[in-house]
Amino acid sequence: MFPERGADEEDVLEELRKKTSEDLTFDSGRILGSMCTYPHPFAVKVVTEFIDRNLGDPGLHVGSRKVEEEAIEMLSNLLGLEKGYGHIVSGGTEANILAVRAFRNLADVEKPELILPKSAHFSFIKAGEMLGVKLVWAELNNDYTVNVRDIEEKITENTVGIVGIAGTTGLGVVDDIPALSDLALDYGLPLHVDAAFGGFVIPFAKELGYEVPDFDFRLKGVKSVTIDPHKMGMVPIPAGGIIFREKRFLEAISVPAPYLAGGKVWQATITGTRPGANALAVWAMIKHLGFEGYKGVVKKAMELSRWFARELKKIPGVYLIREPVLNIVSFGTPNLEEVEEELKRRGWGISAHRGYIRIVMMPHVKREHLEAFLGDLREAVRN
Ligand code: PLP
Repeated sequence: MFPERGADEEDVLEELRKKTSEDLTFDSGRILGSMCTYPHPFAVKVVTEFIDRNLGDPGLHVGSRKVEEEAIEMLSNLLGLEKGYGHIVSGGTEANILAVRAFRNLADVEKPELILPKSAHFSFIKAGEMLGVKLVWAELNNDYTVNVRDIEEKITENTVGIVGIAGTTGLGVVDDIPALSDLALDYGLPLHVDAAFGGFVIPFAKELGYEVPDFDFRLKGVKSVTIDPHKMGMVPIPAGGIIFREKRFLEAISVPAPYLAGGKVWQATITGTRPGANALAVWAMIKHLGFEGYKGVVKKAMELSRWFARELKKIPGVYLIREPVLNIVSFGTPNLEEVEEELKRRGWGISAHRGYIRIVMMPHVKREHLEAFLGDLREAVRN
């Protein structure tokens, strides 16, 4: 019911705290199956200070728009491109939708089709449905990377683009993006790389000596990349990223926004009014942590995932779905559903899907949390 009279802030807050007390929080260390994390305190500070900025009306917030451009430039640099074109958006879902929209609009095909791995995130299902693009699902190899030959066989005159994934949602697998890039170039098709998760992991993991395929704009067939700062970038939600190699992709999805207080502009994003503060926080976090800072975050996460994978193998009945590539470890057990139920009952934020439980070593996940989890898992499997 809409209250007749207002209440004291303290009373309202108290009520809110009570109502949300059953939420699992990232800082509790109990959330092991999410790609989000407790945001970096500095990013929270930035968001708080600049909370009123609206990038939907950049004529008013001219400085913030420039900062967003600089953030896109720094992300482009991280991904091997001197200058890219894009936006800080609401998340990987919006970023993927924008990429599909650009490919469709540029292709001028009556019955557009997009070829994507069976491991692709469900955001593409939304994209396909909203944009009238038929999704053509490509098979996976035994190692859960996409089968490039199957993609090639599925190319038709209606194909508007190809998707590869750098850090799949379920297993953190990186597709053979170099082969997909060659294929895309051979057929004159644009390749979109969904690095929503991997974008803030792979560049640093490579530098640390982990073997991960190339995945970014250094490969000429790659025309767009999704990279989410609200995942391993530690920026508060919402902060996704879409970057295009060329301006024409952004132009292909821009519509005029004529009535804004700051004057007419062209808008490419799905959202109109959108948070400037989070884009500023992306810029601020990159400046604050730098390559070395993020490398340190990724180092800890990767080491933890390798240790965790080794520990899992010691539990009778528990098996890895595959050796981890990034900082995601997924495993199966007998009676998976009962084990999942028991672990949830014990307060763990995990879920089983596609026959396995996925653990994501986000910055809030520490070894002591995983040790406690392993103890519970041992018992859950035994029962
Ligand atoms: N792409 C991949 C590979 C993802 O793993 C996810 C989310 O987990 C998304 C896209 C969608 O991101 P968001 O939930 O920020 O919209």
